[in-house]
Amino acid sequence: MKVIIIGGGIGGLCAAIALQQAGMEATVYEAAPELKPVGAGVGLAANAIQGLSRLGVADEVVARGKQLIALTIFDEKGKVISDMDTRPLSRKYGINNFVIHRADLHEVLQQHLQPSTLFLNKRCQHIEQQGEQVHVTFTDGTQATANLLVAADGINSVIRRQLLPQRLPRYAGYTCWRGIVENPGVQINDTISAETWAPQGRVGIAPLQGNTIYWYACINAPAQDPRMGQLTPVQLAEHFKDLPPAVPAILAATSPEKLIWGDIGDLKPLQQFVFGRVALLGDAAHATTPNMGQGACQAIEDAVVLGQCLQQAQDVSVALTDYQKRRVARTAKVIRLSRLLGEVSQWESPWLYRSRNALFRLAPRFMTQRQMEWLYQVDF
Ligand SMILES: Cc1cc2nc3c(=O)[nH]c(=O)nc-3n(C[C@H](O)[C@H](O)[C@H](O)COP(=O)(O)OP(=O)(O)OC[C@H]3O[C@@H](n4cnc5c(N)ncnc54)[C@H](O)[C@@H]3O)c2cc1C
Repeated sequence: MKVIIIGGGIGGLCAAIALQQAGMEATVYEAAPELKPVGAGVGLAANAIQGLSRLGVADEVVARGKQLIALTIFDEKGKVISDMDTRPLSRKYGINNFVIHRADLHEVLQQHLQPSTLFLNKRCQHIEQQGEQVHVTFTDGTQATANLLVAADGINSVIRRQLLPQRLPRYAGYTCWRGIVENPGVQINDTISAETWAPQGRVGIAPLQGNTIYWYACINAPAQDPRMGQLTPVQLAEHFKDLPPAVPAILAATSPEKLIWGDIGDLKPLQQFVFGRVALLGDAAHATTPNMGQGACQAIEDAVVLGQCLQQAQDVSVALTDYQKRRVARTAKVIRLSRLLGEVSQWESPWLYRSRNALFRLAPRFMTQRQMEWLYQVDF
C-alpha cells in the first residue's frame, strides 16, 4: 500500500518509520528546504519513550538526551511549590522525564527512514479524494497519489483547514520564548527540570547533555503582540530580574538570533481524525499547549498506533476507524488538562497566585504522581 505523509516533523517522521516497518510504501513530503527543527529542547515522558521503543529507535534517542529525576516548581523567591520525584514512575513505566535537543531527536528519526523516502521543498497545497485514492497537489505544481494520506503538517495544517475550515487554532493567552545556551557559569541542579512560577510569568529550565541548558519563558500578552516579538534576551532577563539570579542570567546569555518566539495555542478537541482515506496525526489532529510536555509525545503515540492498526486490520477503513477510536479521547484529555494547567500556572492576581501556591504545597506527592499515571499506561 502506498502512503503519503505530509510534514516531516516528529509526528510525520515517526509515522513514516512505523508504516515502513509495517511493510507500507510510505513517503514523507516536507515543505521546508531542509529539516531544521527549532533550536530548542523537547521533553519526552515514558509514554513517548515506550512509543520510540516500538519503533526501534529508543536506545539511540536516549543516548543523546538526558534523563532527569524530578520535576520541581519554584515560586519567584526560589521556594519549592511542588516537587515530583519522577524516579518511581521511571521504574514502573520506563524512562521518563527525559529531555533532548530537538535537532538530535530529528536526526535519529531521519536516519531510520528507508532511503529516498523523504522529499524536501514540497509544500502541500490541496488534496482531492477519489474513491480509494488521494491526490496531492504541491505548490510547485507537481502531484502525487496514494491509497492513504497522513496529514502531519502541524497546528496550522492546510489539510485540516481544507477538511474542517471552521476549526482554527485558539490562542491560550500567553506568549513564549525558547532558547538553548551554554551554561553561563550559574549553579543549577542538573538532575531536575525546573519551573519558576512568578506573577510576571513563568520560566522553565532543563539541562541538556554537555554544559548546555534549554529554557522557555511564558508571559501573558495579547495575541501576536509586536512588543513581545521585539523583546531581546536581555530585555526578557530584565522582565524576570526578581527571580533567583540564575534565571535572568541564563536568559541574558542567549544569543539574540537564536531566540525563538511564538504565541501559545491549541486546537479545541476534534471528534474526528479520519476523513475517508485521510488521517490527521500529531499537532494537525490535536495540537495542545505545551504545559504537560505532551504534544510530541502524543504525536509519537499516534504514529505507533496508526502503524499497528494498519498492520492488524485487513481493510484500510477498519484500520483508520480503529486508529481514530484509540486516539481521539486520550488526546482530547491532554488538550483540556494542559490548557487548564497553563491557565493556573499563568495566574497573575496576587490572591489567586498565593492561594494556588499554598494549595500546590499541600497536595501530597503521591497524588500528583497518581494523577499522571494514566498518561504512561498506553494502549500500544
Ligand atoms: C514552546 C513549546 C514547547 C513544547 N515542548 C514540548 C515538550 O517538552 N514535549 C512534547 O512532547 N511536546 C512539546 N511541544 C509540542 C511539540 O513541539 C509538538 O506537539 C510537536 O512538534 C508536533 O509534531 P508534528 O510533527 O505533529 O508537527 P510539527 O512539528 O509542527 O511538524 C509539522 C511539519 O509539517 C511541515 N509542513 C507544514 N505545512 C506543510 C505543508 N503544507 N506541506 C508540507 N509540509 C508542511 C512543517 O514544515 C513541519 O516540518 C512544545 C511546543 C511548544 C510550542
